[in-house]
This record gives sequence, structure tokens and C-alpha cells, in this order.
Amino acid sequence: MTLQNNRPKRTQSAKAASTFSGRIKQELMKIDSFSCPDCAFAFCYGLLCFSPRIKKNYIWSASSHALAELAAQSLAAAAGYIVTVVSPKQGKSNSEHTYRLLLQNAEDKLDFQTRFLQLSAERFCTQKLGKHCCMSAFLRGLFLSCGTVMDPSRQYHLEFLCPNTVRGMLLKNLLATLHFTPGLTERKQQSVVYFKDSEQIEDLLTTMGAGLGAMEYMNAKIEKEVRNQANRAVNCDTANIQKIINAAGRQLEDIRLIQKKKGLDYLNSDLRQAALARLEHPDSSLGELCQVLGGDLTRSGLNHRLQKISRIADSLREDENPRV
Ligand SMILES: [Zn+2]
Repeated sequence: MTLQNNRPKRTQSAKAASTFSGRIKQELMKIDSFSCPDCAFAFCYGLLCFSPRIKKNYIWSASSHALAELAAQSLAAAAGYIVTVVSPKQGKSNSEHTYRLLLQNAEDKLDFQTRFLQLSAERFCTQKLGKHCCMSAFLRGLFLSCGTVMDPSRQYHLEFLCPNTVRGMLLKNLLATLHFTPGLTERKQQSVVYFKDSEQIEDLLTTMGAGLGAMEYMNAKIEKEVRNQANRAVNCDTANIQKIINAAGRQLEDIRLIQKKKGLDYLNSDLRQAALARLEHPDSSLGELCQVLGGDLTRSGLNHRLQKISRIADSLREDENPRV
């Protein structure tokens, strides 16, 4: 393997690493050995076969130098190819800002065509991914090539952007063998295999080998759920406080009406006691008023008395404005 003009774009990779997806990819790229000889091929198929075909003699293009180098090393490990990484020329537009892989050797080119042509690739994916280690390597390559996962604190979403429907279906079926149930949709003539279920996303990250990422995902999910629960509790408290204020407001209106029309002596001693407690503690809850009244009375007992006061006030209102 030879490298040409191999100056990495640090700013670009630093930016990618700051995203959740970028951190997952960094973790996956640190896995530098394969469990079995088939794993190296599986990784390369995942990496190469689900990307759009690229022009000229290049076999693949990567968004970062590190990924291009990893692809070159993996192809060397899998098939012994001599791979050249070609860096983008200065001043190129973003779409051309990729690191391309080139095979120099004619034998390698022929072998690559035989092994990685569409039909052979599909045969490999359907026949040779039986072992867990190989499937894990395949999914790792695949995610590095065309995967994205959103920060779980924002949204539960992981997707693979496949070049066409045939590849999208192939991937969906492969994932089904591991009991994953992704969705499949089209976007700008590409096929998107996606997950919205947070547990499946965690399992998939673990299967790919991103154990730390899966842990970070779980923690972010727990934090989000705790925050949501706290918000619900605050909303519930606010609603309860408002209910208490509204009820107390109505009770005060009733008591003041009776006070004005008849005086509080118009009430029997139990009701008068309740009315005075409410007048003295306009913001208290029923429970707090029970305490004020000595604690012998239950909330429902006190509520019963306040309802009676309310009915007396209503009858006084009716006397004032009799219904015709
Ligand atoms: Zn394997």
C-alpha cells in the first residue's frame, strides 16, 4: 500500500468528530483487527458496495483521509491489493473534496472486478455473512461508508443511505436475519434504510462494535427521559397550584358574599370555622386548611363544608336575582 499527498484535512475531521455520528465513526475506525479471514472481506463489502459507483479508474472515495487509509489497509488485508490513496486537489469544490482509492496493479484490478462486481457482492452478502464476527465487520464498514446516527438528545434516528432500491432491500433483508426491523424509504433516487426505535439503534451500535457509543446513546436517552419526567412533574404541579388558587378564589367570593349579605353568624359554627380559616389563609390548599383547623377534620370533610357554604352563597345570589 502506498500513500500519495497524504496530508489529512484536520479541520474537516475535527468538525465531523464533534457530531454524535462522527464520534461513533471514530470509535469504529479504532477497531484495527479482524476476528477471522472472512471478516476483512465482509468489512470491505460493507464499506465499498453500498456507496454510489464512482467514475474513472477509482474504486472508491472517502470523505476523510483516515477512512480512505483504513479502506486501503483493509483491502490489502482482505485480498492483498496494492491500493493508492489519492488526496483531493487544492481549491476543489466540496463535492470533489474526497480521498479516492486507486488500484495500480492490473491483476488487482481484475480480481477486484470479479469479487466486487454487483452480483458477486450480493452473493457474498447473502452467503458469507453467517458468522456474527463477519456480520459485525460488514455492518461496521457499511456504517462508516453510508451511515448516520442522530444525537439521541435530539432525535432517535439511524440510517444507511444506499445507492439504489436493490441494495436497500438487500440490506433490509440482511438486518432481518439479526432480527432488526428497519424501515425502507426513497430519498432523491437513493434508498434509505432507517431505524427510529432507540433500543434497536443501541443494539445495532453494539453489534457494529461501537460499545462506548451505545453506552453514550443509552445515557443520553435516560437523561432525556428524566428531563421529560421532571418537566411533566413541574407542569402537573403548576396545574395543581392553579386549581387550588381557582377553587380558593371561588370559596372567598362565596364567603365574602355571605359576610356582606348576612354576616358570618348566619353560618352554623362548623361552617363559620371553615369560612374564617379560608378568609385567613386565602392561598392554602385543603390539606393545609385542615391543619389550621386542628387536624381532626379530613380534606373531604372540609370540602363538604365549603360546598355547603357555596350552596348558601348561591341561594343568596338567587334571592337577589330571582329566576323568572
Ligand atoms: Zn468473521
